[in-house]
Amino acid sequence: MAIRQIRMEGDPVLGKKCRPVEVMTDKIHELIGDMLETMYEHNGVGLAAPQVGILKRIVVVDIGEGPIVMINPQILESEGEEIMDEGCLSVPGMAGEVARPGYVKVRALDEDMDEVVLEGTELLARAFCHEIDHLEGIMYTSLVKGGLHPVEYEDE
Ligand code: ZN
Repeated sequence: MAIRQIRMEGDPVLGKKCRPVEVMTDKIHELIGDMLETMYEHNGVGLAAPQVGILKRIVVVDIGEGPIVMINPQILESEGEEIMDEGCLSVPGMAGEVARPGYVKVRALDEDMDEVVLEGTELLARAFCHEIDHLEGIMYTSLVKGGLHPVEYEDE
């Protein structure tokens, strides 16, 4: 596995719609492993393939409960609304308030191309929505109400 370079906001690749994955290949397995490693390296809770320059419908998420891999994800249901600060590895050091559903149900394929249905609330619902937006070329910065602000990091 390898850490891949994260594309920053303004890179045209982040504004493009991604293509579905039709078949699993060794190359895609390697990409998924690299995406997880890259996400963990940068202490992110999610990463979408276009953020490493690949226009495929693949996202990885880990909110601290273990890795989730979603291929060709689709939101089936959503409920409620929560407004919270959100950030993105493609916009380092910044955050802004975005309204997201408090609950989502997502259908996707896992790394074996088996169908899975996942439910998320709060941060997990937010991460699912944020990463799935990336696959449509949508950056959270276009959804922020009230502007971005710098994130204050605590000393480690
Ligand atoms: Zn993002």
